[in-house]
Amino acid sequence: MPPFHGKVTFVGAGPGDPELLTLRGAEVLGQADIVFYDYLVNPLQLRRAAPAAQKVCLGSHRDGRILSQAEINKHVICAAHKGQQVVRLKGGDPSIFGRLSEEIAALEDAGVSYEIIPGITAALAASSHAGIPLTHRQRASCVAFVTGQECRDKEGAELDFSKLSAFPGTLVFYMGVTTAPVWAVELMAHGKPAKTPVVIVRHCSLPAQCTVRTTLGQLPEVLSPGKLRPPAIVIVGDVAEESSSHTWFTSRPLFGSRALVTRAAHQSGTMVDQLTELGASVLMQPAIEITAAADHRPLDTAIDNLAHYDWLVFSSANGVQYFLARLRQLGGDLRRLGSCRIAAIGPATAAALEACFLRTDLQPDENRAEALVEKLVPLATGKRVLLLRGSRGREVLQESLGEAGIDVEQVVVYQSRDIEQAEPTIAAALHSGEVDWITVTSSAIAGSLVRMFGEDLKQARLAAISPLTASVLEEAGFPPAVVAKEYTTSGLLEAIVGEQ
Ligand code: SAH
Repeated sequence: MPPFHGKVTFVGAGPGDPELLTLRGAEVLGQADIVFYDYLVNPLQLRRAAPAAQKVCLGSHRDGRILSQAEINKHVICAAHKGQQVVRLKGGDPSIFGRLSEEIAALEDAGVSYEIIPGITAALAASSHAGIPLTHRQRASCVAFVTGQECRDKEGAELDFSKLSAFPGTLVFYMGVTTAPVWAVELMAHGKPAKTPVVIVRHCSLPAQCTVRTTLGQLPEVLSPGKLRPPAIVIVGDVAEESSSHTWFTSRPLFGSRALVTRAAHQSGTMVDQLTELGASVLMQPAIEITAAADHRPLDTAIDNLAHYDWLVFSSANGVQYFLARLRQLGGDLRRLGSCRIAAIGPATAAALEACFLRTDLQPDENRAEALVEKLVPLATGKRVLLLRGSRGREVLQESLGEAGIDVEQVVVYQSRDIEQAEPTIAAALHSGEVDWITVTSSAIAGSLVRMFGEDLKQARLAAISPLTASVLEEAGFPPAVVAKEYTTSGLLEAIVGEQ
């Protein structure tokens, strides 16, 4: 037994889409102390690692800082010797053109134990995402993965192009973009017909995926220097004829567009997932931050006196979460709500309640304070109502219920604060017109975005969740391109898709 218990796990990170990772890979990433990743790995994949885990990029061609294999081995072994759980995250599958054997040999020499978790290799992702079957009952009974970059110091046999040309199936070239003029010509010189169909799939499984259809004869021209940059997979063979210009992947409604999600960080998950599923490339720049109320006392008093109220009215999901969290902190639980009836302003608020096993007694058809007042007044007349709200909520509920003679009290449960400075990369992307849509999901967010980005907001189309949010944007001189008909996240996405 070695004197340390560090272990290295090779994890195949898949082709790019962060969802294309095995369950075991995700589990091991979540437990890692340190992750060494290749430049082709999508950085979003690193979100599966613990925030405290160290994440080390092993260099990229772009910034010209690539570690040698010996340096990589040294770092990995050193971490394992310290007793750390090391993940070596490699693009696609670790065993396909990934120098796995060299890394394993170094670990074995150093007495470090290891595990290998496979991943989806780029050829398979290109096949599924560009709609090209790599094998076919009539047209290809076998498939070969071929490197376009022969290892220069390799002894003996180089790729045998006479055998490759006669290969009775599909050839899939990795790392073949810059070298295509060499290998395509070699294949033809050894008898592969110039009319052999070819498909190039660049950035497969990512929102930037693009596909070029051509033939072997035209390939040197199509891939001549500077025309198409790596990474790309080149599929050579009759199956390439099977591809159609639109696949399930590229025909998703928002494919090719870039959307900025501006919700508070802890709330952006659902919208990011939905946009991604619709095919958009998603950027995140929270415009506001939500925290518990600075002064707890009014809420604590209200919680102490819960038995005194007949109705609890929640005007947002945040209100539900911060109210119940404080109730719990004070030592209480759901039983303290006793016979209080519960009103929610809209479906997201009702869903937040439901997630805590609380049924909503009243919810208006339209996600708006005025609609809630209309429904609540007849039921709450002569009763005591507690409004649980954010620091920047509207006064409509309090005022209208008060005017209707209802005994109403309101308490600030959470506060929202503007984020003042945008991430420089996001600001630059917006400034240069690389953002297609900005989602604006509340009036507070609208105001914050106007202050954060100013005139640059005109570089993208704004999508407002409700007429109220739209009016904040309009008044500031930035009329939205679309306004949701139903004032929910789904309603907003529907409006964007409708305008696409
Ligand atoms: N181990 C990796 C391959 C590493 S070699 C795997 O199994 O996929 C790097 C080459 O992989 C690139 O030059 C390119 O040919 C291919 N590649 C990796 N990711 C790709 C992607 N998202 N789209 C197209 N090709 C990709």
